[in-house]
Amino acid sequence: MQYISTRGEAQNASASQAIVKGMAADGGLYVPEAFVPVDRDTLKKMTSWSYQELAAFVMGKYLPEFDADELKELVNKAYGEKFDDPAIAPLHKLDDREYVLELFHGPTIAFKDIALQMLPRLMVASMAKTRESKDVLILVATSGDTGKAALEGFCDVPHTAIQVFYPDGGVSAAQLLQMRTQPGCNVAVTGVRGNFDDTQTGVKRLFGDDGFAERVDGYGYRLSSANSINWGRLLPQIVYYFWSYAQLLGQKAISLGDEINFVVPTGNFGNILAGYYAKAMGLPVHKLICASNRNNVLTDFFETGEYDRNRPFYRTASPSMDILISSNLERLLFEVSGRDSQTVRDWMAALQKKGDYAVSGAQRDALAESFYAGYCDDAQGAERIAEVWERYHYLMDTHTAVAQHVYGQYRKESGDQRSTVLISTASPYKFATDVFAAIVPPDVPTLDVAEDAFAAVDRLSMLTGTPVPAAIESLRSLPIRHDAVCDPEEMETAVLGVLEGRK
Ligand SMILES: *Cc1c(COP(=O)(O)O)cnc(C)c1O
Repeated sequence: MQYISTRGEAQNASASQAIVKGMAADGGLYVPEAFVPVDRDTLKKMTSWSYQELAAFVMGKYLPEFDADELKELVNKAYGEKFDDPAIAPLHKLDDREYVLELFHGPTIAFKDIALQMLPRLMVASMAKTRESKDVLILVATSGDTGKAALEGFCDVPHTAIQVFYPDGGVSAAQLLQMRTQPGCNVAVTGVRGNFDDTQTGVKRLFGDDGFAERVDGYGYRLSSANSINWGRLLPQIVYYFWSYAQLLGQKAISLGDEINFVVPTGNFGNILAGYYAKAMGLPVHKLICASNRNNVLTDFFETGEYDRNRPFYRTASPSMDILISSNLERLLFEVSGRDSQTVRDWMAALQKKGDYAVSGAQRDALAESFYAGYCDDAQGAERIAEVWERYHYLMDTHTAVAQHVYGQYRKESGDQRSTVLISTASPYKFATDVFAAIVPPDVPTLDVAEDAFAAVDRLSMLTGTPVPAAIESLRSLPIRHDAVCDPEEMETAVLGVLEGRK
């Protein structure tokens, strides 16, 4: 199994090379040369496998340099005691058709743990396989959840260092505290005066700057990425699509071969792309429902075939989806173009130059076979949180609410009765202020909630009788370790300053 670049101008890479490098030298993203088919018999067998067994199986298909025992060990370490549910990703039933896959039982209570508990282990093992002599320096741009999950994943991992950049003022109070209190001798956290796209563009610019790479090399590091463009992050996400199917099959909610839908609250397009890959491997998926917030560039793309990032950027109650450039979409475009890297290069050049590009009408129609897209504003999201709480006594976070709303739209429009899995990407306690505001009765005073990050957490717990997750509870007493903020132009200086300080 070799990995090829979506832009077609870089050398092929082995799995371990792709994981160590993060991104191809031509600016493209690595994709497997082929998708490995999984047959119905195997799907059936999966009903008796643990999450860890399933993860080792699915990932093993794409990691030929890793032998089965090695992979098993890595998987067992990644998905072990740091998760607070033995199922790792429990499937919660709302009603006979609607299920919620909870991906927030890891150490940072957001779905990025699924990938970022695995990636550092894959990366260190890959470095041994590629005989890497330098340590890796991971640079991350985060809209909130990736940052903390990456810090947790890489904290004190030998031969690695990590620096996380977040948009100053663009993450929730809990997210900010989680990052600023991060311990570890190889971690750094820096705010950027700008929005997430400014932050991500800044990190991308550093990755593309040979002079910067040389200066980092001088400190004994090579650059790599833990953003969702890294194959080592995408791969672990394919697993839970199979897992959902196996759970439904095991509970006899569906029969072998029945198609199901997934609704995915989408930002950078990593999560839903993993679902598309699962479908490409033969998982019986009818529609992948791409749910956006008010930053609905993807909704328009799936409807019209035109991707246009020239639009206002909104800060919403689902900040992890406040994104106008969905990096992983490039991998989908590669498939849609018939793996034509020249076309992908043209589209990406147009995106960079004028901020938009368009696929053909036929390509748009082909996409509509697999995808449905819709969006949800903050007021609609709050309504969904309240309604689902009232009807099912189930508490959703603001991102999951976006998915639930778009699912309602889809069901109304299509009349589709197939079993549907909402991918739940964060614990409601990670976005407690907005979740609390959505369900609190109008006559209850809420002044204290605006003042203090924990007031909303405590009030939410009291109001709903649900426990505060340990990951939030511990934040109360941890000291602030990181308080740096810089302008987008100062990001290089910020990195070199940290490296100099560690010398
Ligand atoms: C990252 C994130 C998303 C978006 O996932 P993508 O893979 O970037 O599309 C949605 N919800 C939450 C809570 C997240 O942390």
